[in-house]
Amino acid sequence: MSDTVVTNSINLMQRAKAVIPGGVNSPVRAFKAVGGHPRFFQRGEGAYMYDVDQNCYIDYVGSWGPLILGHAHPQVIAAVKAAAQQGLSFGAPSPAEVEMAELITHLMPSMELVRMTSSGTEATMCAIRLARGFTGRKKILKFDSCYHGHSDSLLVKSGSGILTLGIAGSAGVIEVTAEQTLVVPYNDLAAVQQMFAAYGNDIAAIIVEPIAANNNVIMPAAEFLPGLRAICDQYNSVLIFDEVITGFRVALGGAQEIYSINADITCLGKIIGGGLPVGAFGGRKEILEMLAPLGPVYQAGTLSGNPVTMAAGIATLKVLQNTPNIYQQLHHASTQVTASFTAAAKDNGIQLQSTCLNGLFGFAFVNDPQNQMFNKFFQLMLQHGVYLAPSAFEAGFVSTAHDAAVLAETAVAAQQCFAALQLAEA
Ligand code: PLP
Repeated sequence: MSDTVVTNSINLMQRAKAVIPGGVNSPVRAFKAVGGHPRFFQRGEGAYMYDVDQNCYIDYVGSWGPLILGHAHPQVIAAVKAAAQQGLSFGAPSPAEVEMAELITHLMPSMELVRMTSSGTEATMCAIRLARGFTGRKKILKFDSCYHGHSDSLLVKSGSGILTLGIAGSAGVIEVTAEQTLVVPYNDLAAVQQMFAAYGNDIAAIIVEPIAANNNVIMPAAEFLPGLRAICDQYNSVLIFDEVITGFRVALGGAQEIYSINADITCLGKIIGGGLPVGAFGGRKEILEMLAPLGPVYQAGTLSGNPVTMAAGIATLKVLQNTPNIYQQLHHASTQVTASFTAAAKDNGIQLQSTCLNGLFGFAFVNDPQNQMFNKFFQLMLQHGVYLAPSAFEAGFVSTAHDAAVLAETAVAAQQCFAALQLAEA
């Protein structure tokens, strides 16, 4: 197969590098780990994205999770247009914020009150401040390889973006901040117990991705989430579920519905904005009532609860809520993708592990410590018109637009790419 022409993307990257650090507004977009030329995109429709050179790709990134209905879903676009025509922002309460909060608290009952933000990073950062304000304690406990956005106290051993760049944390996070963040391995309840035995009375919160989706995809061990709930109850610490990825992606009630665990605070993002910038955090009333203007924990946002974002998010959530068997459909799609990858790999003597749950999937090459196989596979798939996350550590996302034809096209590409990979490895 001849190389895809990406001249316009290359030219744009040159221009971008002159005025944007590394040419990108979020590091993983730079393709640093996988090499090659990042594509600049112009248009998306359903499961497909079109770059500025008119190349078409099946998209398994979905803007890193928000696009569970695919690109430019008609109901979402209509809602955005209608809202935009009424004005883009008021900096004052508007009805859509109330509707959004009612919808979220209805679908995720552990969230008795919810506050909107403009990003997932803000949501987790504020959840931590709130937990500290509520408990009067300093420390938090997180898990290595979980990512909770890029606020200082959470940027300690934090998953995909950092793993992709091969750095341990971030310069600029000062020691006194990092020191307050305890980090233990995911799924290691004994390590959590040890930390609590040592520091329990000073731990404000445990923050966890209930399904870890920022170091590929790691499912929680059966005893893990109930164990965290019990430890938080024992020590009066706050259990924070970061469902920025899993919220509305694995179930309408998020991972906490699947595992029947109530978090004290839940963080959301991505899907609830329908593709526009968003975040939210909510939970037990007595905790959320600590927030200004009711209580002493300050938190605010110029564009929080933005009416256009709310419209996109509400339209998305309503489609999810009103379409029968939608999560079964998503599960079918993610199963097909991972099954076609593992089968094609096996046919070509390559070992692949995979996992999926509803709209979320992950796959990893066995015996690929430097991710060289992944990187080659990524480039081959790109050449064959399939856009995977440009990092071995990222999750994959399917949408309701990934129908039988799209999945069949993906399976053919996977067969060809694993065959080419086998030849390259031979
Ligand atoms: N939490 C999780 C689990 C995430 O995956 C992300 C982003 O990918 C965030 C928080 C941060 O969200 P945002 O990028 O909207 O700031």
